[in-house]
Amino acid sequence: MIKLALAFLALLLLACLNMAAQSERKIMIIIIDGARYTETFGDPDHAHIPKMWDISQEGTVCEDFYNNGITYTKRAIPALWCGAWTEVRDTIFGTTPTSYAVLPTIFEYFRKQFSMPASECYYILQYIPDLWLPSFDPEYGTSFWPSFYSAGYGDYDVCENTKYVMEQFQPHFMWVYLADVDHAGHSGNWNYYINTIRNADSIVGELWDEIQNDPFYKDQTTLIVTNDHGRHDDAHGGFENHGCGCEGCRHIQFLATGPDIKSDKVTSVYRKIPDMAVTAAHLLGINPGKATGDVMREILNTSAVEENFTKTNILATPVCYPNPFTEILTVDYELSARSNVEIAVFDTFGKEIFFQSVLNVPAGHHKFYWNGNNQSGQGMPPSVYFLKLKSSNMSHTIKLIYAGD
Ligand SMILES: [Zn+2]
Ligand SMILES: [Zn+2]
Repeated sequence: MIKLALAFLALLLLACLNMAAQSERKIMIIIIDGARYTETFGDPDHAHIPKMWDISQEGTVCEDFYNNGITYTKRAIPALWCGAWTEVRDTIFGTTPTSYAVLPTIFEYFRKQFSMPASECYYILQYIPDLWLPSFDPEYGTSFWPSFYSAGYGDYDVCENTKYVMEQFQPHFMWVYLADVDHAGHSGNWNYYINTIRNADSIVGELWDEIQNDPFYKDQTTLIVTNDHGRHDDAHGGFENHGCGCEGCRHIQFLATGPDIKSDKVTSVYRKIPDMAVTAAHLLGINPGKATGDVMREILNTSAVEENFTKTNILATPVCYPNPFTEILTVDYELSARSNVEIAVFDTFGKEIFFQSVLNVPAGHHKFYWNGNNQSGQGMPPSVYFLKLKSSNMSHTIKLIYAGD
């Protein structure tokens, strides 16, 4: 009976730990396909983007953000996902001909490194029958893809669906893709093109309001708004098309805001598409191992980010007691600065039997409890185990003796 009560207590404590993991940094990335810089932040009157201009007063705008690769959607969107100019290959998925990114995407890094379920990572876009796919990388791939919410026929549907996803699933990671501006540009109708930019601007405003009105997201969410490519400048054919290396095709907008982003700042550091996902990954505390971009440090609050993720240490070797243990092991550890923490238990063959990550743990003393069960909740046999506790730049491994009963 006592054992049962203790097991229940352990479950309760594990549940609390899980809840702590639920209240940390979130991110929303909005891509406005094919809006030219001269109609967004490059317009000194910012006439078509009043909402984004407002938001930029509390955030950072990069004046020199560029598509430095191929100025077509099919290559630039995967580059935004991967933090690198990835190869894109054709495939047949199920029965649908489509294509996929060869390098892993930020969705896959996020889900794998934090053991996040698919409901924590949403890709929201209008209905597309042959969705472009993330990677089949052997270390990442389908088990770590985002949930795709592909429905509706215009940017406004995507906005409504994003709000629905926020309410229903409260994901930590949302990628919102607005396609209408590019379609309108290709029509050659200037007013239609401008109206879709204005519409995208009001959607950004609406979603940012939604974030601020939801206690789950408020003050804990970074918003990034950027493009995949621009459109020809007037010397190279004008707004109707894109795809070359002219300034109009290459120059794109980059707006970020949120608790880790500098306020009321405009930077002119040269930045490029692969830097976006790498910066987003840095904010979330994940390592985008195969990406080639750089962290855009100039947009980040140094206090929040440098301290959180660079100087972080576990100060002392964690104390595990009792050891040997029969019911519940307590792990006492101390962080010198805020960090993500990973706890893993290995058997004597080096096989990982238990894993948990906790996001954004504040500095100070913390406890973690392990009841001798593996990841699926099954009791492990009495034996020697190894517990590894890892912060963003340090780890400790401790030998445990589980005596069972
Ligand atoms: Zn296009
Ligand atoms: Zn061009």
